[in-house]
Amino acid sequence: MNDYLQQPISVLNGIGEEKEKELQQIGLMSICDLLQHFPYRYENHEVQPIEELRHDERVTISGVVQTEASVRYYGKKKSRMTIRLVVENILVTAVFFNRAFLKNKINRGDIVTITGKWNKYKLTITVQDFRQGEPDPAKQLEAVYSVGAGITVKQMRRFLQTTLQTFSDYIPEIMPSSILTAYKLPLRTHAYRSIHFPKDKEELKHARRRLVYEELLLFQLKMQAFKRQERLSKSGMIHQFDENEVNTFIEQLPFSLTGAQLRVAREIMKDMRDSLKMNRLLQGDVGSGKTVVASIAMYAAYLAGAQSALMVPTEILAEQHFEALSQLFSDVEVSITLLTGSIKGKTRKTRNESIQNGEIDIVVGTHALIQEDVHFKHLGLVITDEQHRFGVAQRRTLQEKGYEPDVLFMTATPIPRTLAISVFGDMDVSAIDELPAGRKPIETYWVKHDMLERILRFIEKQINQGRQAYVICPLIEESETLDVQNAIDVHAQLQQFFVHHDVGLMHGRLTTEEKEQVMEAFSANDIHILVSTTVVEVGVDVPNATTMLIYDADRFGLSQLHQLRGRVGRAQYQSYCILMADPKGETGQERMKIMQETEDGFALSEKDLELRGPGDFFGSKQSGLPDFKIADVVHDYKALETARQDAAAMIKSEAFWQDQTYAGLREYLESSGILNGQKLD
Ligand code: ADP
Ligand code: MG
Repeated sequence: MNDYLQQPISVLNGIGEEKEKELQQIGLMSICDLLQHFPYRYENHEVQPIEELRHDERVTISGVVQTEASVRYYGKKKSRMTIRLVVENILVTAVFFNRAFLKNKINRGDIVTITGKWNKYKLTITVQDFRQGEPDPAKQLEAVYSVGAGITVKQMRRFLQTTLQTFSDYIPEIMPSSILTAYKLPLRTHAYRSIHFPKDKEELKHARRRLVYEELLLFQLKMQAFKRQERLSKSGMIHQFDENEVNTFIEQLPFSLTGAQLRVAREIMKDMRDSLKMNRLLQGDVGSGKTVVASIAMYAAYLAGAQSALMVPTEILAEQHFEALSQLFSDVEVSITLLTGSIKGKTRKTRNESIQNGEIDIVVGTHALIQEDVHFKHLGLVITDEQHRFGVAQRRTLQEKGYEPDVLFMTATPIPRTLAISVFGDMDVSAIDELPAGRKPIETYWVKHDMLERILRFIEKQINQGRQAYVICPLIEESETLDVQNAIDVHAQLQQFFVHHDVGLMHGRLTTEEKEQVMEAFSANDIHILVSTTVVEVGVDVPNATTMLIYDADRFGLSQLHQLRGRVGRAQYQSYCILMADPKGETGQERMKIMQETEDGFALSEKDLELRGPGDFFGSKQSGLPDFKIADVVHDYKALETARQDAAAMIKSEAFWQDQTYAGLREYLESSGILNGQKLD
């Protein structure tokens, strides 16, 4: 928006000091703010056939007055006036409260239009809005605004009316005409008028389409131009290594990589060799094999003479990764160590020393990695697994232990593409979208709690065949203590049922050593059934486990259920996930059905996002989602994708930085502090 539209709202006729203050209180300072104070819904005043009117709803009808108004007064100043009118040959009664002043203005034979609450059984409308004559076509859809104290919706409409009258000629078009033509978008000034005062639904739809696209395009341009600028100014590490040696490493792995793993590994290596700093998000569904991809990246860093750090959120995971990586690196000369909170004293001191003097190439650890006493000789690659579990500051601290190291974030919570683009818009995204061959789809069943005994017999059969099972206990919101108590109760109950087998117990209140012991026993098949809270949610890998039973499954989010389900189906055995739940509401039932039908983590997370909304998706409000004025990343995801591609193409093109048609968009970028117009690639 240009300077002219940045004028304070007080320049408008009809806005005095008091109103100005009230508008400022809801964040409206300038003309531009007012224009972008978009309605959050519309009242529909379209006249509908009587047949279709719904009881108790606000409706609009139009008809011919049949009788003189009759008024009854009661109380001190109260009145009830009725008239009868004919609508589509049906006699309807309109009731006005305390509006007796209208009596003389309504005559038999008049055409009137009334909006009000409809009583389908008495054929009566309680009048809220009355006008003489036919319905006003300009008022079929009326904008409803969020307003603050002291301002009514009607006033807000008036302010916008005045604003548009005075300023609509000054709303500059910033979009190249080629785009307007290609997408059949209305001009900007028209879009602003229509979004506030739509003629009809069609016009409103196009206005919204235009403004949503504009908002998303500007957002994407800003983000991508910013990324470019960052890359120009900050050069990262160049890792020089012989790709043939990496290939040799890949060939000696115990399995052959999937196509997706190979592709992603190449993307990462390309970033590492480049002078630009890598900032990449690696998404891969549970079991898709992210660890081995990480090992390839770390091996490449090792060949280039740099150290790598892999940070994970829990000690269980750290140990598991350490074991897995030690296996993968067993035939090459890489030295690897583990650093967790429970490694203390002398051992810790020696490890720290060997990290500092460069004897160690790869460190796997928990938060212990970011403690002050940890120093690297030459940290070139930082990987965080389950990255959403770490705060921004923690990830930052680890990176600062090196000089602009390459950074790879891994996550098994499949983040819907829509969110990945908007939340992690300044990152590159790689996805492993293929599972290793030979995996059998996990069979998922939703059962009621009264089936428990049958389910336990089923588990018994699996165990008699040599397999193992997880039993996840009810989740009690906000109370770890109750969760733990639940696990203890269920554990006791199952011990009574499975007299011939070993039932283990795992929860967050156990000490690290106790947890380790339990996990080791489960891995060694000394524990056959592991009763646990959600601490096993992430990453745990015991391929012999084939059944996952989840109590009160409707209390978990879809993504979390999917994570839990991912603990089984990790080997060639047929695996089962049993969701025990008696959901009351429709959404709960729908979610159980979705789980039964969908195995694809990405599809599930899209659903989860739809059902829970973007704010809740990451379990916190700090998802970093931008605050859009009109666009909605969930429903407008197609527009978001289009905008992303368009922005990328624009920024790459010479025309964007030079041609007059793009001046408006360039100006916007400049006003956001992005001045760099030179061509990069
Ligand atoms: P996640 O992506 O969930 O972290 P992991 O890296 O733990 O997955 O891998 C899951 C399991 O699959 C591990 O046991 C791993 O050894 C195995 N695996 C990974 N890649 C392949 C592959 N290409 N072929 C066969 N097994 C694989
Ligand atoms: Mg993993």
